[in-house]
Amino acid sequence: MASSSPDPAPGSSIAGRFDAVRRQIVDACRGAGRGPDEVVLTAVTKTQPAEALAAAIAAGQRVFGENRVQEAQTHWAGLRDRIPDLELRLIGPLQTNKAADAVALFDVIETLDRPKLADALAAAGEKAGRAVRVLVQVNTGAEPQKAGVLPEEADALVRYGRDRGLAVEGLMCIPPADEAAGPHFALLRKIARRNGLEVLSMGMSGDYGTAIRFGATHVRVGSALFGERNRSETPSME
Ligand SMILES: *Cc1c(COP(=O)(O)O)cnc(C)c1O
Repeated sequence: MASSSPDPAPGSSIAGRFDAVRRQIVDACRGAGRGPDEVVLTAVTKTQPAEALAAAIAAGQRVFGENRVQEAQTHWAGLRDRIPDLELRLIGPLQTNKAADAVALFDVIETLDRPKLADALAAAGEKAGRAVRVLVQVNTGAEPQKAGVLPEEADALVRYGRDRGLAVEGLMCIPPADEAAGPHFALLRKIARRNGLEVLSMGMSGDYGTAIRFGATHVRVGSALFGERNRSETPSME
């Protein structure tokens, strides 16, 4: 493969990182007694240049996560038609006035965190003629600066979203940066189970192995695939 060439093209290191992360996901699944296909790798392409996206696509990646609607449009609007099996997931906070744009571009919105947004997404879905697929983002650490519904309000928001006609598929969380992630993943799984939800989007570059042990169905990985980003783009700063 290209990785054996003495002066590899920029894309080949990305291909190598995809191989490594995919292997680690399979190992973590095995270690947790789970099947190797039970976990979906969502490649997080925020702040990445077009060449990085192209390298990921060439490496066979089809599921991508983006933080911002506008950047996601720039990244993907021109590629959607050429890659029919592309799946785009919004993993950053969403303003109600961008709900229609988000519904037009994304397959799944992982960051439903308040009733007003559920209303806006339901209205956009009605216009688009389909049930909008969402995850409810839970602020498991109750951090004031972080998006997400509080754990004790999650059941009510799941119900609210369902009542509005949204396809609520699961939950998403970003644990506090300075705490062990395991208890936060366990809490998310518990809330999902009591609400009959299948999808658990949890685990990033630093802790996706742990997340898989706690039942993650989707891991959102950026820097382990594409290299370090600018510091101001880390989710804890949002
Ligand atoms: C940026 C981001 C990720 C990826 O983080 P890495 O540590 O680079 O893997 C995952 N989830 C969310 C919500 C993000 O904003």
